[in-house]
Amino acid sequence: MAAKKLIVANWKMNKTAKEAASFITDFKKLVFNENPNEIVICPAFICLNESKKLLKGAKISLGAQNMHFEEKGAFTGEISASMIKDAGCKYVILGHSERRNYFSESNELINKKVKTALKNGLKVILCIGESLRQRENSETMNIIQNQIDNCLKTVGGEGIRNVIIAYEPVWAIGTGKNATPEQAEEAHQHIRKILAELYNAIVSKDTRIIYGGSVNADNSKELFSMENIDGALIGGASLDAKSFAKICNY
Ligand code: PEP
Repeated sequence: MAAKKLIVANWKMNKTAKEAASFITDFKKLVFNENPNEIVICPAFICLNESKKLLKGAKISLGAQNMHFEEKGAFTGEISASMIKDAGCKYVILGHSERRNYFSESNELINKKVKTALKNGLKVILCIGESLRQRENSETMNIIQNQIDNCLKTVGGEGIRNVIIAYEPVWAIGTGKNATPEQAEEAHQHIRKILAELYNAIVSKDTRIIYGGSVNADNSKELFSMENIDGALIGGASLDAKSFAKICNY
């Protein structure tokens, strides 16, 4: 179990630049100065630059929620890896279930994004996880295997060092129904086994595997106490500075 947790706020399509600034100002006062965990905030694209300025000097990193797989060109409305890097991002979330479900992102498309992000020096938070129907049909472990195999296709031993896997069962996202620590632990152990087979024992041990799905200040401690849970990706409970600080001050 990594002593230092990776705790990531995914704000989704919430907060204007003014609201993001107010959150960051409050949050910096609430979070322990010597916080032992690594904290990442992922605001909307248009808030990145302002957030970068406000986070200067704080031990809090910035991430984006998505990006395009091409380096540049005629892709109206899209944002590239170099743009988010320039805006101060160290991380990018890829393959979130909302991107898969509402924007038809396939494992193949996500794989292209992963490779472009890594090429541009970004750390990738790769989201995977099964739907409720898949869990009920006992397909969870196969789905996880398939998503990892395809999203990480041709990502080599160097690239994988900059990938974080976020196990996010779709039925737990934004529903208030989190996976039990045991359910999450079981999936995380399975992910380590897949990584050992795809890469090696060192990659399996060193890759950070975080959990996402209705994590809040009341259930985070128990989830973080599990051997293979290296942190959390948090939506709803990351929107309020007090509740997010409570989770981060673990
Ligand atoms: C998420 O957005 O990745 C997420 C896990 O959301 P929530 O914490 O609201 O379930």
